Amino acid sequence: MSEFSLDLSEDQLQIQKWVHDFAEHVIRPAAHEWDEREETPWPIIEEAAKIGLYSFDFMTQCFFDPGGLLLPIANEELAWGDAGIGLAIFGSALGLAGIVANGTPEQLMEWGPQCFGTPDDIQLAAFAVSEPDAGSDVSSLRTTAVYDEAKDEWVINGTKTWITNGGIADLHVVVAAVDPALGSRGQASFLVPPKTPGLSAGQKFKKMGIRASHTGEVILDDVRVPGHCLLGGKEKLDAKLARAREGKRSNSQAAMATFEASRPSVGAQALGISRAAYEYALDYAKERKAFGRLIIENQGIAFKLADMKMRIDASRLLVWRAAWMGRTGKEFTAGEGSMSKLYAGETAVWVTEQAIQIMGGYGYIREHPVERWHRDSKIYTIFEGTSEIQRLIIARAISGVHVN
Ligand SMILES: Cc1cc2nc3c(=O)[nH]c(=O)nc-3n(C[C@H](O)[C@H](O)[C@H](O)COP(=O)(O)OP(=O)(O)OC[C@H]3O[C@@H](n4cnc5c(N)ncnc54)[C@H](O)[C@@H]3O)c2cc1C
Repeated sequence: MSEFSLDLSEDQLQIQKWVHDFAEHVIRPAAHEWDEREETPWPIIEEAAKIGLYSFDFMTQCFFDPGGLLLPIANEELAWGDAGIGLAIFGSALGLAGIVANGTPEQLMEWGPQCFGTPDDIQLAAFAVSEPDAGSDVSSLRTTAVYDEAKDEWVINGTKTWITNGGIADLHVVVAAVDPALGSRGQASFLVPPKTPGLSAGQKFKKMGIRASHTGEVILDDVRVPGHCLLGGKEKLDAKLARAREGKRSNSQAAMATFEASRPSVGAQALGISRAAYEYALDYAKERKAFGRLIIENQGIAFKLADMKMRIDASRLLVWRAAWMGRTGKEFTAGEGSMSKLYAGETAVWVTEQAIQIMGGYGYIREHPVERWHRDSKIYTIFEGTSEIQRLIIARAISGVHVN
């Protein structure tokens, strides 16, 4: 049994600094512009690709870091720079997470690199679960995948919505119902390779925050993919469906497996926003004077900052714990993955609001980044499972009761 330690390794510290430098010198100076433009920040993704930050190698290094902390560390630093641009860079990792969670090692080696491409030929990936009538309730997906045995092809039909990189991605990982009667246990994930006929982009959404990250609809109209594009393979799917039909428990639910792995990283993005806002507000409070003294000399302001710092550190501890548990195969018995994302997400909304309050009128105008950080933070109580859904998961896990 190793001694308990929260010290990061030399490697982790080095990578943390490398990502932070990129966030500080490339991302943050560009954040306002891309928020206003509401477009995918291609030049920034290109820069990230050039230094190897936007790459399959780096993402797999993060995913397979032995203690699991590299993924949240990198996410925290990127989002500290800017969550929208951070998501434009890490969005493809959602597709990769879908492959890591449900694919075979061969599928990961073949398709993983295609989620990112090369610095000269950048590719994007997307992970598409949500539908107009199935957001929180992922068991009721209407997108279907039907096996055409004669051609060894899957035929996918449906509409996905609010998909990060949806429609502009080269590679889409799509979750579809193979046997709708079985709910989430009758679902599987499919790779839809670049330029597959029948897949098209629907509308692009205009958003409150994270506006440098593309969010759009994906329309799947008789999309045919080869049999080997079923993640995990047919044998595994058939066995899973057979178990579900017999009413036996199964621990492999396509969408859920991906979310479990990605929640601490999403929490880490929220944490990055919180930290940015806290640091900014702290500096401001130590410079701004009112009534002849610095505003931080008032307990009303200083105590806010104390609470902000405490909640940020608590978020990081929950995120690191969940990431470590997920990576080292510890069983989540109390919804620890959900706790990390729920707490860090709600903390980001709260901390950024406090930061605006500390800055008064200056906090509310676009000259300063805190109003943007507040807008950006709100998505963290919504995507990858809303706060209510995270509470459901925790409540069910701790009680054993199917709380509704
Ligand atoms: C910017 C953005 C990016 C996104 N990216 C992706 C992506 O890349 N891939 C993807 O698949 N999806 C993505 N999503 C979709 C996102 O995951 C869903 O929006 C989210 O899961 C909520 O689903 P919904 O919007 O249908 O809300 P609903 O499920 O309709 O929920 C509405 C409200 O009801 C509450 N609620 C629902 N059920 C319960 C219950 N049982 N108990 C208590 N409260 C409940 C919810 O918490 C929420 O407050 C993205 C969304 C956004 C906005």
